Amino acid sequence: MTNLLPEMAEIWQQTLNWQPTVQQQAQFQRLYELILEGNRQLNLTRITDSQEFWEKHLWDSLRGIAPLLSTNFSPTSPALIDIGTGAGFPGIPVTITVPNCTITLLDSTRKKITFIDNILTELALTNAKTLIGRAEEIGQHPQHRQAYDIALIRAVGAASVCAEYTLPLLKQGGLAIIYRGNWTKEETTDLQNAVNQLGGVIELIEKFTTPLSDSTRHCLYVRKVANTALNFPRAVGVPSQKPL
Ligand code: SAH
Repeated sequence: MTNLLPEMAEIWQQTLNWQPTVQQQAQFQRLYELILEGNRQLNLTRITDSQEFWEKHLWDSLRGIAPLLSTNFSPTSPALIDIGTGAGFPGIPVTITVPNCTITLLDSTRKKITFIDNILTELALTNAKTLIGRAEEIGQHPQHRQAYDIALIRAVGAASVCAEYTLPLLKQGGLAIIYRGNWTKEETTDLQNAVNQLGGVIELIEKFTTPLSDSTRHCLYVRKVANTALNFPRAVGVPSQKPL
């Protein structure tokens, strides 16, 4: 009865110059099963087919952190945060794949975080912890502000909103990785304007297609180069209602 995830060793190798170990493949498989189970009670994802899950949840999550997989990334134990992680994407595949990182999985919905807590236990992932809260509040919290090397964010809002959620949480020199589907030049202009106000610069915009269905994706890499002014992030709801 088990839905078996494909291994796709060759595609991993060709696209990311990386392959999962036997243990990582087993963790991906268990993650997939737990999401299918959880989907019966919680509305976690509409992606349930094994190939689609592999592509849109696993591969897509890891494609964004390709720079961490292919280079000897410094610092050696980076502190990551995944903002609006939902059912755990991109955060959980990243946790499985980069065991030397510590990662905080943030979401405003308690039900989703409870679900993720169970996944972390089941997969014996000790390098991740969960946090319930709004990015606007966490970004003003002394324990979290300027505390992270890398902030990941996928499918949470417009890019300038993502910039306002991520940049305050980064240390200077840290990197925000914003996952997008389609992307236009006009959006680059808006994002440019937002990151200027937040102490960031757009370092790279990468366009690529997914390996099975050839869907278009973009990853935006924004570097924090200056302190973020204390008025950012603005109060809960303001970033999304009045994007920078
Ligand atoms: N990143 C996941 C989920 C995207 S759905 C994925 O790509 O599959 C967006 C998630 O962001 C939801 O779970 C929602 O609860 C959370 N979210 C939205 N706004 C947020 C905010 N301001 N702070 C924290 N979490 C937020």
